[in-house]
Amino acid sequence: MTLIEIRGLTKRYGPVCALDGLTVTVRPGRVTGFLGPNGAGKSTTMRILLGLDRPTSGTALVGGRPYASFAEPLRHVGALLDASAAHPARTARDHLLTLALSNRIPARRVDEVLEETGIAGAARRRVRTFSLGMRQRLGLAAALLGDPPVVLLDEPANGLDPEGILQLRRLARRLAGEGRTVLLSSHLMGEMARTADHLVVLGRGRLLADAPLDEFVGGSASLEEAYFALTAGSAEFTHQEGTPS
Ligand code: ADP
Repeated sequence: MTLIEIRGLTKRYGPVCALDGLTVTVRPGRVTGFLGPNGAGKSTTMRILLGLDRPTSGTALVGGRPYASFAEPLRHVGALLDASAAHPARTARDHLLTLALSNRIPARRVDEVLEETGIAGAARRRVRTFSLGMRQRLGLAAALLGDPPVVLLDEPANGLDPEGILQLRRLARRLAGEGRTVLLSSHLMGEMARTADHLVVLGRGRLLADAPLDEFVGGSASLEEAYFALTAGSAEFTHQEGTPS
């Protein structure tokens, strides 16, 4: 049972306050949807959780420890982030083998995750020949490689076809069913409504909601309607000039 514990997390980029004292706990055994308008701070939270960025203040722990303290991090946290791109000249299999090796994960696990994510047939192709959807599948394969108790997925549906999106939903549900902690960001509200058990909603770097999906939707006609009612006015570009994230 591995928790993600975020306490008083603040991140400033010069004048921009990307996270403003965020405190939230993400629990195992369920899919937690991570929602918020562009610029709300979702990616920043995930990057800090993965030690890719330092907080200005506050802490982000996985199983009580900072990510940077794990000698074999892929065994603790699997992540699919835009930034987790593979080297274009490598084959998909070699990319995964390199990751496996550096985390003492057996090579047979590479073939398992290639199968699991539907890219076994392309295992020996160079990543540069992959479509966006195939790259996402490869990113998912990398996230699953270490059989981690915590999985972070930042907009994993990007570039996936409808079949891929359905597979992703089943995968997220299965991972949660196995007792893992699954944090999933997506702008696809219909898909989120079918996948998540629980929602964490950010707006301008602050926590707007932390509630079970049913409770969040409440009397609204849909998740989309409840979400827009909550976040109206907190979209980055309704109140300030800036560059899209
Ligand atoms: P989200 O993932 O919810 O769209 P982000 O975490 O990407 O939000 O961004 C939060 C805010 O931080 C935005 O205003 C964004 O422009 C800003 N930001 C994110 N990364 C950087 C960076 N490396 N440098 C400057 N500003 C950044």
